[in-house]
Parts: sequence; structure tokens; C-alpha cells
Amino acid sequence: MGEEPARAAPRRAAPEPWEEPGAQPILRVTGVSRRYGPVTAVDDVSLDIHRGEVFSLLGGSGSGKTTLLRMLAGFELPDAGRVEIDGADMTGVPPYARPVNMMFQSYALFPHMSVERNVGFGLVQEGCPRDEIARRVRDALDLVQLGELGGRRPNQLSGGQRQRVALARALVKRPKILLLDEPLAALDRKLRERTQFELVSIQEKVGITFLIVTHDQEEAMTMSSRIAIMDQGRIVQVGTPLQVYEHPRSRFVAGFIGMANLFDGPVQSAAGGIVTLLSADCAAPLSAVDARAWQAGQAAAIAVRPEKITVGRSEPAAGINRVFGTIRDIAYLGDASVYHVETAQGRRISATRPNLRLADELPFTWGDAVWLSWTPENAVVVGE
Ligand code: ADP
Ligand code: MG
Repeated sequence: MGEEPARAAPRRAAPEPWEEPGAQPILRVTGVSRRYGPVTAVDDVSLDIHRGEVFSLLGGSGSGKTTLLRMLAGFELPDAGRVEIDGADMTGVPPYARPVNMMFQSYALFPHMSVERNVGFGLVQEGCPRDEIARRVRDALDLVQLGELGGRRPNQLSGGQRQRVALARALVKRPKILLLDEPLAALDRKLRERTQFELVSIQEKVGITFLIVTHDQEEAMTMSSRIAIMDQGRIVQVGTPLQVYEHPRSRFVAGFIGMANLFDGPVQSAAGGIVTLLSADCAAPLSAVDARAWQAGQAAAIAVRPEKITVGRSEPAAGINRVFGTIRDIAYLGDASVYHVETAQGRRISATRPNLRLADELPFTWGDAVWLSWTPENAVVVGE
């Protein structure tokens, strides 16, 4: 055997494009706003997206996602700010002259045209030669695995097949960026999950940058290189799925992406990378790892994911966060169970426990007194 290195090298690929200083983004949005009367639909949004990303705009209904997408496509003009695609300013550039294509939520297929003619429509408009159209349409249909169905009409297709026709039509013009507005919303759950993987594998084959609008956090987490979370027209956080899940910066993001137990209270101390906070919901102060400079007395919250909490009968060791309580409710989900534990202060905390073994009974039941515990590394401090 060869000698083991003293420390394993970190398993890390080349820096991601958004981490490279000076990398030229394929899309740069700077200070873009759009108002409709009293409503500010998009509020001072700035964003860089890099070549080859599958980037998601994630937010609740009315958060401004579609409006932002329409401004990138040129269907809507910003009141302020600038959009640049591949280094070129898009101000004054009409939609048809922009190197982007939009796949609409409704698919907007022509019902009287065959699949082939739907897919080739944009190329015909461009005056592309016949044989090139035929070739590109065939390639696009093969890519979305509809090679056999080119002669059908949209109403002779399933919902999933129509979705793929719309995708082929958007890809056939080889845009620099493909804008997809809720591309999977019309599909049922199983098909949606399968299509998420298909979309990503198609993106990897064609290399076109995808910008996907969704309100579905699981979809965004599964598909994206990075996610921008939108709330009331603003982007509140941008990061990889792991970053936004494990390090939410605000209460909103912590609660929007997955579940989080939030403990409010003034900061008691912040030193040596550990923040301690006094919450009225627990008997003892809570700690979390955080290197920022918090002031004593400052309002903050600690967020803890349910799966980071251990449920046990015996008192945990000192030095970690521990809360005593009573099991009030159990949600058995099959693969895991969620325990709702009430503290003496009347606060309910959710803790998830994977059901690792086949068993006829759960290890805890309603009314059991239990200790919840988690380490400071497994909690984060969030601002307002
Ligand atoms: P999302 O796609 O995130 O659901 P939208 O971008 O469609 O959000 O809408 C953001 C806000 O702007 C909403 O309050 C919506 O009512 C408003 N809005 C969008 N389009 C128009 C419009 N054409 N006229 C008036 N208000 C609009
Ligand atoms: Mg929308």
C-alpha cells in the first residue's frame, strides 16, 4: 500500500464560475425595478448569472418572478436599471432581437400545427433554409425524446409530451439563455420529479444557460446550480442549494426553504465564533456557530432544522444546546417521524427522526418526556 497523505485533499472541483473573480457573466441585471401603479413588482434587483448555470428564481406567488423574467425577454420594460446579456446592453433591444427564448407556463403551442411545424416555426420566421430547418427540428425532437411524434397535433399528446414540444421549440433557436416560467407546474407529481432530472440532463447536453422561475422549493433545490429567493420584488438571498438551506440569512429564507425552528431573543454574547441568545421559549440560553460581530442586546434569532435535533430520554452532555419537553404530537411519514415537543414555556419544537429500522412501534410515544439536543454547529443565527 502507498502512504496515506497526512490529510485528505478537499474534494473540490475547479472554482465555480460565480466564484471566479472577473468572470464575465452571461446575464447581468443591475438595479432593475418595475412598478405597476402603487405596486412595485420588481424592486431594485441586481443579479449575475454565469454560462451553463441552471439558475432558479424562487418565490411565493406575486413576489415578482414573472415580471423579472419578462423584462429579461424584453416583453416588459424596466422603470430603472439595466439588463446586459453576454456583455451587450439590452436597453432598446426588442424581444425578437434578444439572444434569449422564453418557454411559457401555458406552453402556447399552435393547436392546428403538427409538432414538427410548432418546433420549426421560429426558424421559418427567421428565413432559415428548408433542409437546415428539417435537420434542426429533428435534432431538437430527438433531444426531448419525441422523435417519433413529429406528425402529431398538440391535442394528440399527453401533458408531459406537450411540455417537451414547448422545450424543443425554445431550444431549436439556440438562445444564449433559455427562460422557463414554471415549466413543470402543469405536470403531476411523479412526472414532475422525473422531468426535473430530464431538464437538467438536456441542459448539460446543450450547454445553454437555463433561468427557471418556480414557486416549488424542492424543484429549485433538485435542479439548480444556484437559487435566488425573491420576496416582495426583492432578491433576499442568492446561493447554491446547500448554502441557502444550511445558511439562510434571514428568518424569511429559513422558513421558506424547508422547515426551521426559530428562537427569537436578544443576543447575550458573541465571542470566539459562538453566538449565545436568550430565548423566552427555553430554560437555558441557546448557542450557534457564527463569526459575525453581533452586539449584546441585539435582536436576532437562532434557526435549527428539525433533522438536526436529536431526541433522547437521557440528559445530554453539557456544552450543547438542550431543551427538555413533552411529546405532544407525532407525524409518522414512513421514512421519518416528526416529533412535536412542547417545552415548559409552552413552545413547540419540531424534531425529525429517520425510521432507520423496520419496526412495529416507534421508540417514543405521546406524553413521553424527552430531551432535545443539537450542537452549536448545527444551528445558525439569522437577522430580522
Ligand atoms: P410572480 O410571478 O412571482 O407570481 P408577478 O411578477 O406575476 O409575480 O407579479 C408581481 C406583482 O406585480 C404582483 O403584485 C402582481 O399583481 C403585479 N403585476 C404583475 N403584472 C402586472 C400588470 N400587468 N399590471 C398590474 N400589476 C401587475
Ligand atoms: Mg409568475
